[in-house]
Amino acid sequence: MKEIKVIMYHYIRPIKNGKFKGLKGLEVKEFDNQIKFLNENYNIINYDDFCSKLLNNNIQGDEVLLTFDDGYIDHYSYAFPILKKYNVSGVFFVNSLPDENVVMDVNKIQLIFGYYDYDMTKIKSVFLKEFSDIDSNFDTNNILELKKKWYLPNKFDNANIIFWKRLLQVGLKKEIRNLALKNVFNEIFGDEKDVAKDFYLNIKHIKEMYSNGMSFGLHTHSHVFLGELKDISNIKDEIVKNINYLNEYINMNYLSINYPYGNYDSNVLDVAKSLGIKIGFTTEWGG
Ligand SMILES: [Zn+2]
Repeated sequence: MKEIKVIMYHYIRPIKNGKFKGLKGLEVKEFDNQIKFLNENYNIINYDDFCSKLLNNNIQGDEVLLTFDDGYIDHYSYAFPILKKYNVSGVFFVNSLPDENVVMDVNKIQLIFGYYDYDMTKIKSVFLKEFSDIDSNFDTNNILELKKKWYLPNKFDNANIIFWKRLLQVGLKKEIRNLALKNVFNEIFGDEKDVAKDFYLNIKHIKEMYSNGMSFGLHTHSHVFLGELKDISNIKDEIVKNINYLNEYINMNYLSINYPYGNYDSNVLDVAKSLGIKIGFTTEWGG
């Protein structure tokens, strides 16, 4: 069976000389080289063509779809000009929470871990202190219990790093992990509102990119593990808020979702289908 290659980008910015230490991403020049190469050797298709080829089973085999995740300002400042230079397009999966001047937990974790150079001994002690400050009865056995489920390496990070990311993304009680992340983040980087303003696409960027041929898709309201939400109404809420946010400004011919962390289950699929979502992407690994 012929396939369309889907390439997923996250951070594209000056990494080595960048503002945030230890951020894992692609240098701008490297991105330019990749797009040049792909443009010379493959057929970079736009999102509407991707959908119609897929739905009509009309795939040649040399097609590539460029996708961009999490709605970073990088996608406007660095990726968009390069895509225009080569006259190609991509699809951008954005969350709606950053519009409220909030740094999403997934990003707080990346920035904090990068700040500490992924020194897990240090990171662990910072957060254990934070957990017990927040809740004097905090029981570290909670953490050991969660190890069974979340202590798994992926192709980007070792098991210990993934485990601590998962604890803070989804594993621990929401009130505790949210507050711990907020406190540690503010301590290092200052008010998250100021960081959020320069970190994500805003609606002005989205409109300009859209009117220049770029496409947009859903990535949930707040970048959650949809498959871990037990309540259907919470799944629905995460997706509907995201749809409403984009629908207000742009027209999506084919509604698609990229599941954060590639995480979904049969309930999530049912909800997505009931909301008219035609295509789901599960390509994201790291977070
Ligand atoms: Zn994502």
